[in-house]
Amino acid sequence: MRAKYYPLGNFWNANIGSRPSWSWRSIFESREVVLMGARKLIRSGRRTNIWHDPWLPRPPDFMVHSHRPTSTDITQVSELIDSHNSCWKEELVHSIFCSTEASLIFSIPIGDCQFDDLWCWHFSRNGKFTVKSVYHLAASSATLFPHLQLAATSNSSPNPIWKAIWKICAPPRFKFFIWRCVSAAIPTIEFLARHHIISSEPCSFCSKADCDSMHIFLHCHFSRSVWRLSGLIEHISDFVQPSFSFWIREVLLHSPPRLCSLFVVICTLLWFYRNRKKFDNITPEPFSIVAAANSILEDFDRVEGRPEIPSPLLDSPLFSRPTACYRIFFDGAVSPQASCAGLGVALLNPSGNFIKGLSKKISGIFTPEIVEFYALREALIFANRNRVSNFSIFGDAATVILAANEESSAPSAALGILDDIHHLKSSISPLGIFWLRRDSNYVAHRLAFYAKNMLENDHSWDYLPDPLCQSLLDDFQHT
Ligand SMILES: [Zn+2]
Repeated sequence: MRAKYYPLGNFWNANIGSRPSWSWRSIFESREVVLMGARKLIRSGRRTNIWHDPWLPRPPDFMVHSHRPTSTDITQVSELIDSHNSCWKEELVHSIFCSTEASLIFSIPIGDCQFDDLWCWHFSRNGKFTVKSVYHLAASSATLFPHLQLAATSNSSPNPIWKAIWKICAPPRFKFFIWRCVSAAIPTIEFLARHHIISSEPCSFCSKADCDSMHIFLHCHFSRSVWRLSGLIEHISDFVQPSFSFWIREVLLHSPPRLCSLFVVICTLLWFYRNRKKFDNITPEPFSIVAAANSILEDFDRVEGRPEIPSPLLDSPLFSRPTACYRIFFDGAVSPQASCAGLGVALLNPSGNFIKGLSKKISGIFTPEIVEFYALREALIFANRNRVSNFSIFGDAATVILAANEESSAPSAALGILDDIHHLKSSISPLGIFWLRRDSNYVAHRLAFYAKNMLENDHSWDYLPDPLCQSLLDDFQHT
């Protein structure tokens, strides 16, 4: 592998090549992860450049930050070592480096100087890189960059940005990504350039030369269309900073919680899709990114916050499911930022195959509950228009199902729609209106979700548009 992919250089400055094998590509991709924790292990110091190689035992970048004195032409670490006595040249080190970096250097033991320097993995005890240690790295951010943790806690008032990240309502891996952005520890262009892995790199989305992180995450026309579709563009553009990590910081410190969550998830997805474009040449659609982000957050909310149906209700006959009939599923999805909501209706035959569906967008500001009433009414209109017979209706909103079955009262705002529901119900006689778990109402949920983001007001489906959206999500789950 070495001869083929990096005949002249080493692993760290190798290019992926024009036709990479699968295994080389996976190693190449993991390189960016490895880079987060890889540094030189000093033995002779002959193979390590003081100014260009990561060799100080200090994450996240392991680089020397002391200014290189113009008077010195010392470049290799070996020049700082007294190989005869196996120790550091203390005076020389003090004359070149700031006191913090000098102490770090003295903490590196000098052993036998006849061996060449090695690469080691900072985050494992024996310096060997293992997949397990990467999982550990990803899982335990507290032990990841100790100096950042200290910066956050040694101060009498904790740095508000760590608190802000901690409070974001999004799955941990998204918080972890944004945390790395703020710590300037993601392998962005600047990061790679600092490690001399690459000098500059064109944008994966638009091929603009010399792009930086602000370009990838905000200024690129591709990213701008993502932010425009998400409704965040104006807000986040207000906080533009020359530095990427400062921009993230400003947005997180000055935005309401819901917006922070969406911002964090979209940033992560932009980075993910940028890598897919770069390594696999798979071009994403801005819409799929926004749809995936909203869907990830909805799923997260469902798990974290929204109460599940109380269990006594599950024993009621309303909640037992008939089979061997056509089934119509309905769901609603609100989009407060866009002042609209989406309704989804799906018809499945008795074997569970998708027959027909509807996505409908309605304008206005609704509560999630009211939208569910609209969705049920739409399901009944749909059944009537398509002359469906021998069918049952399913939805995941318990209050709506109970009200439609006259088992409980409805909120006053829904009374008009509930009248329509009773009227339609008596004329087309469904076998029943039943509750099911939200995760079983997947198809209608996707159609409603699609509806609130679409440009037209309604769209009927003769096939299931779902695999596209799902495969995008699956891809992301596996990273
Ligand atoms: Zn670009």
